[in-house]
Amino acid sequence: MSSISLKHASKVYSGGAHIGKEHIVGDRVVNDVDLDIADGEFVVIVGPSGSGKTTLLRMIAGLEQITSGELYIDGKLANDLEPRERDVAMVFQTYGLFPHMTVYDNLAFGLKLRKVSPEIIDEKVREAAEMLDLTPYLYRQGKTLSGGQCQRVALGRAIVRRPKIFLLDEPLSNIDARLRVQMRTEITKLHHKLKTTFVYVTHDQTEAMTMGTRVVVMKDGVIQQADTPNALYERPVNLFTACFLGSPQMNIFKAKLGKDSNGVFAAIGDSRIAVPDPLALRIVDGEICGDVLLGVRPEHMRTEPTVGAKFESTLDATVDVVENLGNESILYLNVDGKDDYATARVDAQKRLGQGEKTTLYLDGEHICLFDAYTERSLFAPPEYDRLSAKSEARDGALYLSFAGNDIELPQSVICRITDRAAAIGNVTVGIRPADFRADGNDADIKICGKATLCDDNGGRGDKLVYVAVDGQKDTTVVATLPADMICEIGDAIELYAHIDDIELFGESGARITTDMPVSLNTTQGVVKNIGGKVVYKLRSARGGKAKLAFDGDARGAAGYLGQQSIYILPDGFDADAVAVKNAPRNSILSGTVTHADFYRGGAVLTVKTKGFDEPVTAVLRGYNGGGVGRKIKLAVDPKSIAIGMRYSFSDELKRK
Ligand code: ADP
Ligand code: MG
Repeated sequence: MSSISLKHASKVYSGGAHIGKEHIVGDRVVNDVDLDIADGEFVVIVGPSGSGKTTLLRMIAGLEQITSGELYIDGKLANDLEPRERDVAMVFQTYGLFPHMTVYDNLAFGLKLRKVSPEIIDEKVREAAEMLDLTPYLYRQGKTLSGGQCQRVALGRAIVRRPKIFLLDEPLSNIDARLRVQMRTEITKLHHKLKTTFVYVTHDQTEAMTMGTRVVVMKDGVIQQADTPNALYERPVNLFTACFLGSPQMNIFKAKLGKDSNGVFAAIGDSRIAVPDPLALRIVDGEICGDVLLGVRPEHMRTEPTVGAKFESTLDATVDVVENLGNESILYLNVDGKDDYATARVDAQKRLGQGEKTTLYLDGEHICLFDAYTERSLFAPPEYDRLSAKSEARDGALYLSFAGNDIELPQSVICRITDRAAAIGNVTVGIRPADFRADGNDADIKICGKATLCDDNGGRGDKLVYVAVDGQKDTTVVATLPADMICEIGDAIELYAHIDDIELFGESGARITTDMPVSLNTTQGVVKNIGGKVVYKLRSARGGKAKLAFDGDARGAAGYLGQQSIYILPDGFDADAVAVKNAPRNSILSGTVTHADFYRGGAVLTVKTKGFDEPVTAVLRGYNGGGVGRKIKLAVDPKSIAIGMRYSFSDELKRK
């Protein structure tokens, strides 16, 4: 038995593709995965094809090198352990049985290779066969077995080894539907018998919901949510999870969020859907207004009012198609505010015909609201708690005041600012819920307020505390605090956070700090004036060379000819395809992305390029191209090149 822990685990396939002389590295197919699997747990990893499930499983098995991050098995670092040292057994979609061997020999094969004695092999094979109802078939040849029997033999081969961990990769996807249902329960029973850690990969939502005690939803190599099947269904943290699980899919309406004397509502066309207080209290993202997506599952769209429902709202609809399934009917309806059909699951007794007008009753307690842009659930803790702030440049330093704090920003934060113009004036301070603590010191940010909600977070080992911030109207922050924290609604709460943990957002809502220092890009080189052209010959200490040349003299470089330190401002690049195409000759640096931080409206990249020792940092507004591993061309703006001078943020401020 064994626990598994992944910390910031990523995988980039270095596929070995070559274009010309350049070696193309792939995307991050598993991206920054944090996952703890307890001893004896049955965890299902689910996601669409290509989401990185198999890769993640192979990383645990040791069949795939982990590019960055750590894997611990039983608390011990396992990144560099050979597969056989990990004591895991992997079962694949293709069974890989030997067709001419009997079931017995197929089961015994691995043990024979390990030179286990015949008596022990016999005991283990019979035990596994018994467990999997294979005893009657022990002397049949592999090729005469049905798909389901083959799959059981494949499982049996894993069981005879008694591994510490079972890794199963879509083991049921090759067998027919009826058998699949049976095998599902058999694998669950097997887990109960063996009490070993199981990690089970599938793209099938039914398998995920019925088998897993915990389900991990993946998309594009990123874990979207890891939760109990119930919590995933009832409290999806984003639109993807909400729509991936459940059939028919959750109905999604375009809506606008608003507030009046009756409380918070979401308006779909002319209809208002009331948001019950306990849910409205979870909406922490500043003012309540703006575009949202409202989700309701088909079973919560009723054609009659529900007795005792406190927060029911109505929508007008027209029935278009009725699908009678015997025990229930699926209605396909036209509703204002929704381009495609809305679906409702209703009692089969309910007689509604095509073209009939009806009223849909939505229970507010069962709605989901998603931010129309980020697609995150407004009821889940936000990625960042947001506090409006003012920032002011004084004496070459930057001061920030918000929610009773008045602080000079340390250099460690200033050097992460990507948009210096937007950093002055009205800004928003963002703090991750998990970065708050219940105690701290004078150097910390301190937020005071009253608890409006204390939530055990579905028993996930921490407590979510929602705090209405003193002195800032309509501002609630949520903090992830220890589960044993005692807190009741109305309690005065103090929250602390480290200044380095803040992010800043500009007035447009775009994040203007990044997760790495945005320092000036520095290298050595020679500056020449060749027939009215200013030429920079960049040379890294390792000897890599690059040449930039521009007509004219944008920053007075002609006064600094010769050997110089050469700097390029981080926002002096453009990666837009058209800009790069139209850029003059010798004004482009090309390289490979080594780090990428994407945010609304752009990205900050580091790019390994010739002529620089360190990857250059480029702040790219509007960039939505490839991330780590991608080849990229950066057009350099001659106005962003500086020579021989010292650069400081205060100089930049003074220039304004
Ligand atoms: P899933 O199991 O969820 O369908 P995979 O883990 O098999 O997803 O694949 C995730 C991504 O990694 C896919 O885009 C796939 O094309 C890519 N990939 C898988 N194996 C390799 C490989 N050996 N080399 C390069 N890319 C790979
Ligand atoms: Mg796969």
